[in-house]
Parts: sequence; C-alpha cells; structure tokens
Amino acid sequence: MTRRELIPPSWSIVSEALWRRFFQELDAYLSSETRSILRSLALRTRQGIEALDPLMTRYCAETCPQCEDVCCTAARVAYNITDMLYLLGLELALPLGQTRTQKGDPCRYWLPSGCALPRYLRPYVCTWFFCEAHMQLFSMEHPKFQRHILSILQDVHALRETIYQTVRPCLSIVHFPVVFRADTSVLPYNQ
Ligand code: SF4
Ligand code: SF4
Repeated sequence: MTRRELIPPSWSIVSEALWRRFFQELDAYLSSETRSILRSLALRTRQGIEALDPLMTRYCAETCPQCEDVCCTAARVAYNITDMLYLLGLELALPLGQTRTQKGDPCRYWLPSGCALPRYLRPYVCTWFFCEAHMQLFSMEHPKFQRHILSILQDVHALRETIYQTVRPCLSIVHFPVVFRADTSVLPYNQ
C-alpha cells in the first residue's frame, strides 16, 4: 500500500470550520480523567516522534531536493482520526486545518524548502512512511540502529493505538460533522 492510497480523499479536504468543530466538540465532551490519560499518551507519542526526527530529517535532506514525485503533493496525505486525537492531547495551538482545502492542491504545509510544521504536528504518515529512497538509506544503516528505530516506531504505534482506544467511546457520542463521522467508519488505518 502506498501513502497515496491510505486515506479516502474527502478526509483530506475539509473546511477550517469543520476542522475546528471536531476539536471543540470533542474537547467539551472529554472527562477530566480521559483528558489526563490522553495528555500523557500524547506527550509520550510526541517524544517518540521527536526521537525519529533526526533520522527522517537527514534522509529528507539527502533525497527530497532531487525527488521527481514529491509525496507532499499526494492528495491523500492527511491527518487521520488518531492524528487528530493526538493533536487534541498535546494541548498546543492546532495546525490551521487539514492538509488541503481543495482538490488537486498539494499539502498546504508544503514549502519548496520543506515542511512548514514541526514533525510532531504533522500527520504521522509523514513520519512513519519510508519511501523507496528512504528505505534504501535505511537498509544501509547498522542493524543495531535499525532495531532501535524499529522499536521506537513500534512504541509510537502502540501509543497511538492506545490514544485511539481511549477516546473511541466518545467518538460515537459526540456529534461530529458528517464528513468526519462517515470517514471515521471507513478509515482504513489508525497508525
Ligand atoms: S520523502 Fe521520498 S517520496 Fe517524499 S519527497 Fe522525499 S524523496 Fe520524494
Ligand atoms: S504535513 Fe509536511 S511532510 Fe506532511 S505532507 Fe504536508 S508538507 Fe509534507
């Protein structure tokens, strides 16, 4: 499966009003206990993502300037439900909105110089996805280092799964905009 196939197209194109409403409605509904668990999980997830950042930044510096098929222009790179729950748990200023506002646009955070967002605020697919060029670089790393990175990826995956399961009971109760409700039910992954 490629990064382009991961997310239904409608998920990546929502208005900023709908984007904000998702967070506002969920924020109002979460109990203090759930919020506290979510905060802790999000913080640990951010630490994992930041631990991956030097490797990914190094790979991007080596490969992205020459790339002829820039993944940040792929229509289906977007925040998924777990990304959004994680963002809520961070309790920081949110990114402006989903990755694009209209069909055919590249990701709104994409600049010729790279991504405008710090890695911990990007959709997680922007971190865990290793394109062919990155896989090639990774295959040349020392096995011990590879195991270290894979173990961080596993930890982040487990944390994100716990984030999703922690907030999941609230998702069916809160009145989400239709686009989110529909897409949540068919979302193919919550990595
Ligand atoms: S991450 Fe890979 S696919 Fe994406 S722009 Fe860089 S080299 Fe290209
Ligand atoms: S959030 Fe950043 S890394 Fe991810 S697709 Fe957009 S520009 Fe690329």
